[in-house]
Amino acid sequence: MHVVTSPDVEQKIRLLDQVASLDRDGEPGLTPTQPTKADFLAGSIYQVQRPDGPMTVMRTVQTSACERNCRYCAFRAGRSAMARVSFTPDELAHGFDCMQRAGVVRGLFLSSGVVGGGVRTMDPMLATAELLRHKYAYTGYLHLKIMPGAQRAQIEQAMQLADRVSVNLESVDARRLASIARDKDFEGELLSAVRQVSEIVNAREPGAKVPSMVTQFVVGAAGESDQELLTTVDRLYRRMNLARAYYSGFNPVPDTPLEDAPSTPLVREHRLYQADWLLRFYGFALRELPFDPDGWLPSGTDPKLAWAHKSHLVDRPVEVNRVSRSHLLRVPGIGPRSADAILRARRQGTLRSLADLRALGAVTGRAAPFILLDGHRPPRQLSFWDSV
Ligand code: SF4
Repeated sequence: MHVVTSPDVEQKIRLLDQVASLDRDGEPGLTPTQPTKADFLAGSIYQVQRPDGPMTVMRTVQTSACERNCRYCAFRAGRSAMARVSFTPDELAHGFDCMQRAGVVRGLFLSSGVVGGGVRTMDPMLATAELLRHKYAYTGYLHLKIMPGAQRAQIEQAMQLADRVSVNLESVDARRLASIARDKDFEGELLSAVRQVSEIVNAREPGAKVPSMVTQFVVGAAGESDQELLTTVDRLYRRMNLARAYYSGFNPVPDTPLEDAPSTPLVREHRLYQADWLLRFYGFALRELPFDPDGWLPSGTDPKLAWAHKSHLVDRPVEVNRVSRSHLLRVPGIGPRSADAILRARRQGTLRSLADLRALGAVTGRAAPFILLDGHRPPRQLSFWDSV
């Protein structure tokens, strides 16, 4: 099915699609999905979770040419064996408009390789976004990447046009970043962009809508520990209005300097996300996360369960009928939703059984060793499957 009116544009999207799955610089947190109406987009279409449900998003670049040489990246300048494709703002805006009108996609994430520096690279991206919003009256989801070195005025313009902006830090500090992306200036280009987005968020009129800011790390490529990652992220959450960090495990790309480096195990990503949730939604402080002396989270156990054991919570069980929400959130198997449901249910009567808790959404196999129900320890013991 042809959904893009220009064969040239469709051909460019096809070419990009062939490298999309290798791109480590893409929209973080996307789940690959199969398009139903345009098979040439198979590698470029993803699902992103939005407050009103999953959304099909097209991820593409203004250009796949890049003058930089990040050691992990499929688009790096030194990688000869790939076609380079560039869209004019008109081509990209029109092509996307055709696809979203045909129902193939509902949102766009637009990134780019760097050509002529960050400022010159941002210009066509912003022009594409302006065309979409004003010429094509597109009101849907738009995520713009802030390019390294972008000017303040460009960042402000991006934030007026987008629902989400990303400033991908890629690593935890200047030293680590230099080992995988020598051309990127961690403080001058990346942290400074984060700071500017944060200042714009702080300066907004009360009630004004501003896009959320996210960042991404290439986990494992620079040898950083979990503690280094989460320390950086914790600061960004507390001080820089970061909405969310994404942890993308490193995967080697052929024909790059890191092609023989080992992939980062998926379980590491998983544990980082679990620990990140403890910081964002469970009231944990960074110092409470169960790092070992070398700064690693336990790979074999959920970090909340590891914290509960380390804190001897099993010897100080929590009375589910009495404790505060923050104490409930410390219990493995009880999350924000089930904690709220427990608080509501307590107003109606006493919770006496694991079945009562299960009906409220708690994972009772995990919670059982750490709680009291109406003064009694519940009978069920923690099983192996509840602990992973
Ligand atoms: S700047 Fe680095 S990460 Fe971004 S496209 Fe170029 S080589 Fe890839």
